[in-house]
Amino acid sequence: MKPVDPRLLRRARGARVFLAASVLIGIASGLLIVVQAILLARGIAGMVPVADGGTGVLRGDAGGGEAGGGVPDGGLLGGGLLGGGLLGGGLTAVALGLGVVVVGRGLLVWGQEVVAQRAAAAVKSTLRRQVLEHSLKLGPVWLSGERSSALTTLLTKGLDDLDPYFARYLPQLVLAATVPAGVIGWMATGDLIAAGTVVVTLPLIPIFMALIGWATQAHSRRRQHALSVLAHHFADVVSGLPTLKLFGRAKAQESAVRRVTDKHRVASMSSLRLAFLSSFALELLASISVALVAVGVGLRLVDGKLGLETALMVLILAPEAYLPLRQVGMQFHASADGVAASEEVFRILETPLPERGDRTDVPDLRVSPLQLYDVTVRYPGRDEAALDGFDLDLRPGEVVALTGPSGTGKSTVLAVLLGFVELERGVVVAGGSAADEFEPTVWRRQFAWVPQRPGLRMGTIADNVRLGRPDASDDEVRLALIAAGAGELELDKPVGEQGQLLSGGQQRRVALARALITDAPVLLLDEPTAGLDPDAEATVITGLRASGRTVLMVAHRPALIAAADRTVTVGTRELVNA
Ligand code: ADP
Ligand code: MG
Repeated sequence: MKPVDPRLLRRARGARVFLAASVLIGIASGLLIVVQAILLARGIAGMVPVADGGTGVLRGDAGGGEAGGGVPDGGLLGGGLLGGGLLGGGLTAVALGLGVVVVGRGLLVWGQEVVAQRAAAAVKSTLRRQVLEHSLKLGPVWLSGERSSALTTLLTKGLDDLDPYFARYLPQLVLAATVPAGVIGWMATGDLIAAGTVVVTLPLIPIFMALIGWATQAHSRRRQHALSVLAHHFADVVSGLPTLKLFGRAKAQESAVRRVTDKHRVASMSSLRLAFLSSFALELLASISVALVAVGVGLRLVDGKLGLETALMVLILAPEAYLPLRQVGMQFHASADGVAASEEVFRILETPLPERGDRTDVPDLRVSPLQLYDVTVRYPGRDEAALDGFDLDLRPGEVVALTGPSGTGKSTVLAVLLGFVELERGVVVAGGSAADEFEPTVWRRQFAWVPQRPGLRMGTIADNVRLGRPDASDDEVRLALIAAGAGELELDKPVGEQGQLLSGGQQRRVALARALITDAPVLLLDEPTAGLDPDAEATVITGLRASGRTVLMVAHRPALIAAADRTVTVGTRELVNA
């Protein structure tokens, strides 16, 4: 897995801006860390004049001065006085400088947070919009089934997991790239050997992180899987308890629940143990590396090859070089969910759209016939063709009933006409041109569709009917409802979420009114009278015939089939005996 997904930068401008801002902030942070170390070193060195004298003594000793006994006192005193003199002005400046640095670092952290929150919000909204647009283009068939609920989760909670990715991981990644470089660079100006030690030991951290990750990858994947299976099992057992209780079998499940929870606990603990062990290993590695630097610095300080101030600066800077790298590893895991969500997003965005032309001169189906030749459809992941070599000739003004057992591809025929599915073989022809030459939205204007599930949305009855024609007057809406056999429904009655406040039959009739109010020449109706009483069904049939439009309807009920000009049976090959 890459540290930064290039697709994220390519698709979301917010992410690019954010990365640029983070680099600037990272560089500034690196500078401030160096300045802070310099000031601290200067301040401490200035406050400890004794140590300076001490170095003098040591140096004197090293020089082999025999009669140096009395000198240290004077030297010490002089150093102390001198130091004290410097101290008055120097220390205030140092303290002031430190104050400025601390405030500066605080401001940078604040700025980073603000930028991160904005970027996360911008990127999430960009990705959400792109996924929505793309999945709308992919069409309702692609969206159907479990995919729509998966998409709902992804677009709501799933993408929110990108927050830690932007707020923690990416900034830390930038810091890991900028701060060690700056710190090592500055250390090199004071103590080349210490800088060299850091350069040699620093790569050990990412190497160890990779090694640990590599060694535990298979393990943690197995754990993840086990955890999700166990979670599922647990939820299953618990949700089944009422039934079990009803049949007096609940007691027996107690041990099952205990066993499952125990396994769950053991699995969680072993995952945690692994996480703690790996961070312990990295911590240890960083500590040892810093210790190596410290020992070297101490030795050179005693040898007099290094001034106290430089030595202090190197010591203060050394841990700063390791910190960002270690943190990256931790934040990486924290943002794993967000990364997984974004990968899912890109998988959707990279699903190729069906190839369609851009012709807008769609023939008027009021006068042109519509034909299907040898149409074969196979849904992804299915071996069986949903529709195999299907032919149909639909003349303008005809009312045709599609019949056949359930699952033979009747709804699929409607989806083919609407351009919602890809053809494996065959062609749809309108007025002599292949349907896939036309721009999809213009093509679909020829059709009004009542799907098997009516798909009403929040709002009133009138709102839902007006989806068919937004500028329809109240009278027109009422007429459409009457033609659909739903004359008794009030226009301003709310339908609730997905039409829940209406009965199934009412929902269907509202959907039918929504189709009738359009001026589309062809009506595609998927079982329009299911759930309707005979009276309502008769009204619907009269309404359909009166509309004078071409109608292709999936029909089961005898009354509806009898009302059609002719009947076409779909795919009776394998299912005849079924
Ligand atoms: P009908 O409307 O005649 O009951 P459909 O056209 O809905 O039949 O479905 C025909 C076949 O295609 C069925 O076997 C069904 O399971 C399958 N099918 C329908 N929609 C999808 C889909 N989105 N993904 C996969 N298989 C599908
Ligand atoms: Mg169907």
